[in-house]
Amino acid sequence: MKLKDIGEFGFIDRVKTLCQITKKGIIKAIGDDCAVYKGGGEDKAILFTTDMLVENVHFLLDRITPFELGYKTLAVNLSDIAAMGGKPLNAFLSIAVPERITVKFLDELYAGIMSLGRRYHVNVLGGDTTGSKNDLVLNIALTGEAKESSLLYRGGAQAGDKIYVNGYLGESAAGLEVLIKDVDLDETVKKYLVKTHLLPEVYIAEGAFLAETGDVTSCIDVSDGISSDLGHICRESGCGALLYEKDLPVSDELKVFAETTKKKPLDIILSGGEDYKLLFTVRNNKSDALEKIFQNKFGRPLFCLGEIMTGKDIFLRNRGGEERPIKASGWDHF
Ligand code: ADP
Ligand code: MG
Repeated sequence: MKLKDIGEFGFIDRVKTLCQITKKGIIKAIGDDCAVYKGGGEDKAILFTTDMLVENVHFLLDRITPFELGYKTLAVNLSDIAAMGGKPLNAFLSIAVPERITVKFLDELYAGIMSLGRRYHVNVLGGDTTGSKNDLVLNIALTGEAKESSLLYRGGAQAGDKIYVNGYLGESAAGLEVLIKDVDLDETVKKYLVKTHLLPEVYIAEGAFLAETGDVTSCIDVSDGISSDLGHICRESGCGALLYEKDLPVSDELKVFAETTKKKPLDIILSGGEDYKLLFTVRNNKSDALEKIFQNKFGRPLFCLGEIMTGKDIFLRNRGGEERPIKASGWDHF
């Protein structure tokens, strides 16, 4: 049997049962954006997450600067802390470096990491350095902290909850295509899309705020595309979902990109990865108030794109009112 026969998530499910020796102090093991364990005092929890970026899988060295690569390696880890409503603490950076990589490159890589580290008061406290025969590999492990009672998990959504995202979707996937193909687009639009792909924003304050409201029932960061990431919420929560095509947040830039490349914004949004927005569910009777407070506090809107249903499937209601089931079509490494 090959990994592609069971897929990335099938593999994670398979090892899940083998990995845990003791339950002592563990609040959340494999299966969420971070692992959570007790620590730091009354109602305090420690978060732990790790994410790896591999050359020619996650990035192409002739399409990203070392600074951007450093920034992005920390950003994708910070995003998992944000998705749990936590505050980041300290990072460890391990690198496998092929011979062709220069010291100047690594200096700039660290400058990129620390530019974001400085913003969120994250130190790099250690790591590991090894050689690599071919590709550059970067791995960050990041700790965080949160109030145990207000943590956000993937599980917790209930039928009737509204589904929200805190920004536009699909732009990073469009940015990637602009980076690797010759897309005939206005330079400003190109720059904007490429930036969302290379330097994704991180939503630590937003995640912490959502956790504090007590009205957010589940949360995940969108790393693999919403069809896949909403699938994780549904699976962990034991529910289904209905998305409204008319309410999916499509930016003007994505519309222009979709027209030029003759693609449907819908397809890009459902399966395009690396948006790193927060996808979350809110108790139905609290959603209007939350939308207003969020807009006032952060100066940006929340987008309500559907609702949680009973069952286990995800449906899409098109503009004509017809509903069809959608499959997880997001990123799976295998
Ligand atoms: P994310 O996209 O939020 O980083 P992943 O889909 O990578 O989450 O991982 C889902 C869960 O599976 C997490 O709890 C993660 O720690 C765990 N996981 C991923 N790969 C492995 C592995 N090789 N061994 C054990 N646990 C893993
Ligand atoms: Mg995640």
